[in-house]
This record gives sequence, structure tokens and C-alpha cells, in this order.
Amino acid sequence: MELRTENLIGFDYSAKGSKKFQSFNPLTNTSNPWEFSVATAAECQLATQKASEAFEIYQQTSLKDRSKFLRAIAQNITDLGPQLLETYCLESGLAITRAQGECARTIGQLEGFAKALDSGQYLEPIIDTADPSRSPVPKVDLRKINQPIGPIVVFGASNFPLAYSTAGGDTASALAVGCPVIVKAHPMHPATGSLVAAAIMRAAQQTGMPDGVFSNLNSNTFELGQLLVQDPRIKGVGFTGSVSGGTALYQLAQNRTEPIPVFAEMGSVNPVIILPEALDQSESWAKSYAGSITLGSGQFCTNPGLIFCIENPKLDTFIETLKKELSTIEANSMLHPSIHKSFEKGRTAMEENATLIGQSKGNEALSYPGRGSIYQVDASTFANNPRLDQEVFGPLSLLVRCQSIEELIPIIQSLEGQLTGTILGTTSAIKQASKLIEALKSRVGRLIFNGVPTGVEVCTAMQHGGPFPASSDARFTAVGVHSMKRWLRPISYQNWPDEFLPEALKASNPLGLWRLIDNQWTKN
Ligand code: NAP
Repeated sequence: MELRTENLIGFDYSAKGSKKFQSFNPLTNTSNPWEFSVATAAECQLATQKASEAFEIYQQTSLKDRSKFLRAIAQNITDLGPQLLETYCLESGLAITRAQGECARTIGQLEGFAKALDSGQYLEPIIDTADPSRSPVPKVDLRKINQPIGPIVVFGASNFPLAYSTAGGDTASALAVGCPVIVKAHPMHPATGSLVAAAIMRAAQQTGMPDGVFSNLNSNTFELGQLLVQDPRIKGVGFTGSVSGGTALYQLAQNRTEPIPVFAEMGSVNPVIILPEALDQSESWAKSYAGSITLGSGQFCTNPGLIFCIENPKLDTFIETLKKELSTIEANSMLHPSIHKSFEKGRTAMEENATLIGQSKGNEALSYPGRGSIYQVDASTFANNPRLDQEVFGPLSLLVRCQSIEELIPIIQSLEGQLTGTILGTTSAIKQASKLIEALKSRVGRLIFNGVPTGVEVCTAMQHGGPFPASSDARFTAVGVHSMKRWLRPISYQNWPDEFLPEALKASNPLGLWRLIDNQWTKN
């Protein structure tokens, strides 16, 4: 299909501005051929106006119709076939297998939200029936349900051109609950975004959704994102990226006359604690960790950036195997020259306080190689250099050698919030390290036993979010069906006539939902 370089505003393409930009192919070290039109302030306003008008209609659509819409998006993305995958590779330098995997995940997520609509349970209906005979004050009838908050702005993520961008988890979850979406496309992959945006627009037209339910705006400067977040018609924001970017947008949103929620997923170093008992299997752990550190050139929010080890005779074997395994892995390209530059800057800064102990194979054919690197430091140096716990986005891990669990506990307690925390050990070792586990638990959103933090299962029990700065609100997840909760607010109906209640709250329960009625779960 034709790749459009204009902005998509509802069902219309628009290129009113004179500024253009191109995406970049890090493998060939050249710009990609397409020139994208930077959205103007007027185009931004038109998109928010259309989204606001669309919300009036879209929030009334049935669960069934929205489920059809999401499934049509998934089908249209599937139909893009090789063109989408090739464009993804040209804009990211990532391998075709990664493009295929991420595309499958994107489609799977859309289908997952469609299924959630089929069930309707996300509405969480709760009913407390009236008791006119209660004394001294009669009890009123109260019925509570979730409803959508309004138009949402989604910032595409640089490191997930499909699964966390145009039709990714943030967009799919917001569309699922009845919120129109405006995507601020990430400037590293606007062509991938444009193809997916067209697939969403076609799905909206095929399933009778209102004009303005979705828009896709391009820009390579901060201005557009700032205008969108400040627009009074926008009611929520989804963001994946840097701590500085997420924090700046959060502040803007809080300084509005009407503050709005910003769900920002930002930095994480995902601490891993290796208890001495785990070192009985040091070879297999070393192999797994060499793979996890370098997976996707380390450009994952769950990359293991910090590994804490307790001194033990087997520790050197683990480190030697890790070095050996790493040296057999060839460096892959990073996503973009700017990400490569910040990685190299972070690596250089690391060298001021820590010792480089192992590296992956170089790759001279690449202009922007992400060379896996492991540094080492002792616990007291780590504790005295607060910068050492900051994320270096890329394939880098810092190994911290501690004398004892007691020395490690205050270090873990002083870490910033994290998406994940991992313990390698045995069940009996865990019992003896309960204080350490409690410390780790207080810092993370997901606690992993004997595994690697990379690989985020998309399912209902997944928590992908953690205390700041891992995310801006640790109570919510960016992955899985519960990510829909970010775009909902509860509303209670008091003594409201049955015929005017939402279906999920009507006495006859026409949707057949599980409801909490007078503190009892029932479908009656
Ligand atoms: P980013 O710089 O935070 O940018 C993400 C998006 O937010 C872009 O569209 C960007 O605008 C916009 N933005 C950033 N700061 C803004 C501000 N002050 N005002 C308005 N808009 C703003 O992240 P990135 O481009 O993905 O990569 C840069 C770094 O982010 C990486 O090196 C890495 O450190 C971090 N990162 C972390 C994760 C993670 O999951 N932990 C994931 C991805 C990236 P533009 O369109 O103008 O660029």
C-alpha cells in the first residue's frame, strides 16, 4: 500500500506545515527516503477537536462494536504483511525475526483487549441495593461502574516500533475502553507508524467508528508533544521513554488548569541478586545472563543493569563463565545514532568508578554497535557513588560484589524504584534472606525467582510498572489487560431508574457479568 507522509487527522491526511524530517537507517548509516510533514499547532488542535467530538459518540459504542474494531485493526495490520516488516527493519536496524515477533505481539495484544471486551468484566460493576427499612437512615441504592476518561495522547516508544507505538499496548487499551487516541509518533519510526495508522483508520471506517477516534501526528521536536499534553480536550497520557522526557510531560500535565494523569514508563536497572546457593549452577546462569544483557542490544526496559553478588568461592567461576559467554556474542546495531551516543556516554562515565571485566565481540561492519559490556565494583564504592545505579540504556551490566547479605540490604533499600527485581537462589536460601527480599519487594513492580528479567509475558497477572522512576504511578501496569484501568474512572449511580442505567448495572444483568451485589459475587 502507498506509504503516506502526511499527518493522519481522523479520516483525513493533512500536511499544512513546511517543516519535514526523515527517519534513519542505522545499518546503512543513511536517511530513509520518506520526508514526513511536522504537524503544526493548527493540525494538533484539529486532531484534539475531532477526538473530543468523537468521544461523545465513541464512549457510547457497545462492547461488541469496539471488540470488532480492535479485531479489524489486528486483521489490517496482518494484511500489511512484508511491507510493514521491511519498513520496521529499515527504521530500526532490527532483524526481521524481531519485527515478526513484535508484530505478532501487537496483534496478540489487540486480540487480548478484544477478548476483554467480549467478557466486559473490566467494567467492574458493583451494586449495593437499597434498604428503605434501615434505621435511623434508610439506605439508598448505589451502583458503580467504570467509564472512559476521554481523549488520550500516546507517545510512541523508540524501542518498540510496533508493540508500544501506533497500535501498541497504550493505544489498544485506550481504544478498548472507549477513549479516542492521538498518537505522537516517535521520530525514529514514522514510516512504520504511518502504515499502522492507515490500518487503524481503515478499521475505524470498516466498523463504523466516528471520525476522530484515532489520529497520528508526526514531529521531531518536543513542541508537538507539549501542545498535545497541554490541550484541555486531552484527558490522559501514555508514555514510554526516558526519565527526563516522562518527568517533563508529567510536570506539564500537573500544571494544567485541569491536571490529567500521565502514565509514564521510564527508567529501570532491574536489579538481580545472586545468592551464593545459586552458584551451584553458575554456568547455566552465566549463559542465561549473557543472553539477557545483550538481548535486543540491551534496549529493553527490563534489561538487567545491576547484578549483586555475595562473595563466595564459586563467584569467580560465575564471572569467568559470564565473560566467556559474552565474548562469543557478536554486537548488534543500536536503534539510532543518538541512542548509541548516549550508550557510549554512559559507558564512559561508568569507567570512572568501575572496572570493565568483559565485553561481547565487536562488529566492524556496524556504524552503531551495541557492544555488551560488564563492569565490576565493590559494594562500598557502589554505595558511595549514587550515579552508578542509573540506567545506561543498552547492553551494559554492573556487577556489585558484596561481602554479605547484611551489607547488601541497605543498598537495595536505597535503590530507586524498578520495574523488576530478581533473586537467584534456592527456596531455603530465600527463607534465610527474608529481610533482603522485603527490601527488594519495596522497590519493584515484579519479583522474579530464578529467571531473567527480560521477556514480559502479556497476561492479566503481569505488573509492568513500579515505584518512580520506573513508572509515574506504581498502582498501574502498562502491559496486560489491566492496563485498561489507566483510562477509566468509576462513577456511582444513586437511586437511578433502571431503564436509564448502563447495561452492566441493570437489574436484569443483560451482559451476564459477574457483579458484586451486596458484597456477594453473582451473575444473578
Ligand atoms: P525520549 O527522549 O524520552 O522521547 C520519547 C518521546 O517523548 C519522543 O517522542 C520525544 O519527542 C518526547 N519527549 C521527550 N522529552 C520531551 C519533552 N521534554 N517534552 C515533550 N516531548 C518530549 O526517549 P527515546 O527517544 O525513546 O530515547 C531516548 C532515551 O530514552 C534512551 O536512550 C533511553 O535512555 C530512554 N528509553 C528508556 C526506555 C525504558 O523503557 N526504560 C525505553 C525507551 C527509551 P521527540 O519526538 O521530539 O523526540
